[in-house]
Amino acid sequence: MFIDETPVLVDLSLKDNLLHDKSFEKLEEYTALVYQTLKKFFTQENFYTGDDIQNINQHKLEAQLDVEHTYSFEEALDYLNHLYIKNTIAFHNPTYVAHLNCPVVVPAILAETIATTINTAVETWDQSTSATFIEQSVIRWICNEFSLPQEADGVFTSGGTQSNFMALLMARDHYAFANYGVNIKQHGWFEEVSKFRIFCSEKAHFSIKKNAALLGMGYDAVIPIKTDSKMRLDANELVLAIERVKQEGNIPIAVVATLGTTDYGSFDPLDTITTIAKEYGMWLHADGAYGGCFVLTDSHKKYFEHIDKVDSITIDFHKTMFQPVCCSAFLLKNKQHFQYVSYYADYLNPFEDKDPERPNLIEKSIQTTRRFDALKVWFTLKTLGKNTIASYLEEVHYLAKAVYEHLASDTAFEVVHEPELSTVVFRYKSVGVKENKLHDRINLHIKNALFKSGKASVASTKLNGITYLKFTLLNPNTTKEHLFEIINMIKQQGEQYNTYN
Ligand SMILES: *Cc1c(COP(=O)(O)O)cnc(C)c1O
Repeated sequence: MFIDETPVLVDLSLKDNLLHDKSFEKLEEYTALVYQTLKKFFTQENFYTGDDIQNINQHKLEAQLDVEHTYSFEEALDYLNHLYIKNTIAFHNPTYVAHLNCPVVVPAILAETIATTINTAVETWDQSTSATFIEQSVIRWICNEFSLPQEADGVFTSGGTQSNFMALLMARDHYAFANYGVNIKQHGWFEEVSKFRIFCSEKAHFSIKKNAALLGMGYDAVIPIKTDSKMRLDANELVLAIERVKQEGNIPIAVVATLGTTDYGSFDPLDTITTIAKEYGMWLHADGAYGGCFVLTDSHKKYFEHIDKVDSITIDFHKTMFQPVCCSAFLLKNKQHFQYVSYYADYLNPFEDKDPERPNLIEKSIQTTRRFDALKVWFTLKTLGKNTIASYLEEVHYLAKAVYEHLASDTAFEVVHEPELSTVVFRYKSVGVKENKLHDRINLHIKNALFKSGKASVASTKLNGITYLKFTLLNPNTTKEHLFEIINMIKQQGEQYNTYN
């Protein structure tokens, strides 16, 4: 019966769509076409082609799939170019100064290509072999940069949000185990958890609240602490808040110190926070998603003096190490704490088969199948060294300082802080306008008008309910001249708004 059955795949050439020895030439041929198309994208003048609602609606239609109809590779690539590549946002363009998206270094893209082409997954040693050691060695390197002890360890994650999730999970489960002998991983939630409180600055990343909710503690478990004039967590306010929470009968379990807040790039004072966390027996997490890579620079070493005392660290290589997304890591001072996420699956990593010579990285991760993102960092360091990265970071930092000086000396602008990293938050102020609501509308108009023109992208944020504009500088190819030009565009838009509205 079995022998007589006709094979399902009648056309054997279809198998050449899968990558194998016989189809490799096709991959090379197509790759050349892809790079021809991409090259044009990289020579486009503006960061964006600019858009109106007709174009957006058109793209929405064109993105729809009709799976009955297939195209040749060339046709599909051409279609994709018109729909997406030509019209997408160019982070490498010096006038893109909106969010924490960096231009990427060449070796990282090629390392990404290698990892993707081989398609290594790094959950178990029998799937990744030496890739395991490459990830471990990148983790060791960054732990050393932070002067963490030998017992420290870490794992690559999908981003700062996931790293912060792991930190809060460890904080919760460790507090429950150490203080109540409760094993949350095994038995789940218990009564006291609803009293657990986590402290962070009011400028901390929203993922702290979001993760507290995902972990069953809720947004209300996160206590925002006021910041000082430099947008850093105020340590006196922290102590007051901890005492208040205790008096209410709630339980302080963790503090998050942000090393580089998303909007202001401010560093919370690690020295005092470390002392406070220790005194109250709380977990201390450092969210260095934005600022963490500045540990490589001379200019910012001083902010990391007490980093070896924190329990866990978030670091995003896709923000400040010029790596393609995703590329991020979570570090633990004491690797024992990975037990709060480890699981031994019979089919994957049976406990009886544990072998220190052949580690299974899944035991440290909340993911199962996981990308080999560490290769990008490893290859970048092999080819460029850390000093190249450090010099890029210092470049954008000094650029931010220069633009701050420029804006501060111009009466058309109000600047809110002197940059510690590479963002500048400011607003345009029209002559004769007193009302903040009107200023808010003018500044939002400026942001949107610049974006639509395709000539520059700046971000906006709010401080004390007032709308501000923000430059996020992560591109060493952006010059003062580029920024002065953007500043002129901002003024022009601001003046025009006054005239016509
Ligand atoms: C961006 C950011 C995050 C989130 O990181 P993702 O990689 O976007 O998930 C967390 N914390 C801070 C301070 C950030 O700037």
